[in-house]
Amino acid sequence: MERQVEEESNSRAVTILLRSRTRLLVCFLTLPLYIAAVWALLSNGREVGALMWIYIALYSVFAIDMVRRCCPSCDEQFFVKSILLNLLTKRCVHCGEDGYSQRN
Ligand SMILES: [Zn+2]
Repeated sequence: MERQVEEESNSRAVTILLRSRTRLLVCFLTLPLYIAAVWALLSNGREVGALMWIYIALYSVFAIDMVRRCCPSCDEQFFVKSILLNLLTKRCVHCGEDGYSQRN
């Protein structure tokens, strides 16, 4: 029974972790839109400084949020093994926790 509860809370924690990953991925996917917007503004002779800073800030917030996330089972950083963020993983880069599999 206790084991069941522990696993449920782990899978909930991992779901939250993966949500922060999705945010950053969505940010990456909007990159072409951003480039198109900058391009359009530049060709109209507009200022793009503000847009650039907003975009960079958005990236930083999401990336830092992802870096700060810790694994529910090993308490290490979930997405960061050395320095680089692992955007592709759905498991903990340290212990492989994915919120579903049985641990032993
Ligand atoms: Zn872990």
